[in-house]
Amino acid sequence: MRYKMITINDYRDYNKFLKKVNLYKSILYYNTFFVLKNNIHDVMIDYVISALNIKKRKKRIKFIYDESCKMINEKVQGFNICGFKDGKCYVQQKLKNNKCNGCCRMCIYQTNSGCSTINLTCKLFNCSEVTSRYDVMTSNDLKILKVLSFKNQLIIKSDYFSKREDVLKDLYSYSLIYSAIRMFYRIIRNFVYFNVVTKLVVSKKNKL
Ligand code: SF4
Ligand code: SF4
Repeated sequence: MRYKMITINDYRDYNKFLKKVNLYKSILYYNTFFVLKNNIHDVMIDYVISALNIKKRKKRIKFIYDESCKMINEKVQGFNICGFKDGKCYVQQKLKNNKCNGCCRMCIYQTNSGCSTINLTCKLFNCSEVTSRYDVMTSNDLKILKVLSFKNQLIIKSDYFSKREDVLKDLYSYSLIYSAIRMFYRIIRNFVYFNVVTKLVVSKKNKL
């Protein structure tokens, strides 16, 4: 194993380093262990270096996924950023449309106590009602996502309404088309569940 020292003295060095992440994550640096000398206060660099030092592909993807979720959770911990009141978020209170459960209302993973899985794409989504009130974390802030391939950065932007294990499978796949088919299938499954199954259950209950 070779060693490469990364020295960050200021934000110019930081930006230079970020521009080189595409190179550092490539096969050329598979046998290189990165050592960081960081003189600025930005923990994100440590996460990027840690991800680059994980050489097994699946292990690296899982690390990036889980750490990103943790960072987002830590940022919003203790805040009701969607303003939920009686199950209705800011948007639903404004629209007075009798809908509840916010963005999760059409997802099979919603439960009475919130989301039953850990979905990074959903965690990164915030409508303007939220962004106008809170300084939330965006995919741009999560520099660790740069360590993912371009295909996986696209998936992270689109994989809503899915459980963590399914998103990870989409990320592990080498084919964007295969992952896109899997994502499309889950969207259809959700749609069918909420538009056919739940309506059937309600009509059966009404008949009783
Ligand atoms: S992101 Fe916006 S629409 Fe979605 S639950 Fe939060 S407030 Fe509601
Ligand atoms: S997967 Fe996403 S849409 Fe579904 S319940 Fe969880 S946060 Fe909501």
